Amino acid sequence: MAFRRQPKRPPPPSLIELPPDVRRPATRRRSSPPSPGADEVRRELRMPWRVEVGEHDGIAEEVHEKAELEDPFDPASGLILAARHGYLVLPRSDEGCGVAGLLPGVLLVKPSADLRRWNLRALHELAEGLMDKHHRHTHTHADTWVLTLALAIPRRAFRYRDDADHVPKWAVRLREITARAVVRAA
Ligand SMILES: [Zn+2]
Repeated sequence: MAFRRQPKRPPPPSLIELPPDVRRPATRRRSSPPSPGADEVRRELRMPWRVEVGEHDGIAEEVHEKAELEDPFDPASGLILAARHGYLVLPRSDEGCGVAGLLPGVLLVKPSADLRRWNLRALHELAEGLMDKHHRHTHTHADTWVLTLALAIPRRAFRYRDDADHVPKWAVRLREITARAVVRAA
């Protein structure tokens, strides 16, 4: 992929134009139930991004490199990346996210019987922790989701994204959209 870091520039206020629905059409048989998470994340991604375009990918690359995660699509990628960066992952049952800052070094992840969903949640909480660390006062929740998706499908594995089975398929489709937005803004 021809991604590269770009020189500093002010981020545009709105980066992505999402198609009406990136999930599979309702007429097709689904292998898993429709997820309200897909709609929620699509909404989040429409909000302004404040972190420099391309920086999310840069952080995700660094995280993967330092963790030496052999298979970026490992079903437990979120837990492994978090652990190798010194985070303790604890399940928690309440709603909401982004409470990483409350307990330093601890990521609280809402459990799910769906392993792909659980992994995406772990990646998201890791992204919350990383955004707090790198861009504490300058990031939006859209930035955190852009980073979450980049952690799920890092640049080096982007071309193999159709093989990804470690996060919900809708997350892979959203990652394609954010990657395109980054290329367009470059
Ligand atoms: Zn969050």
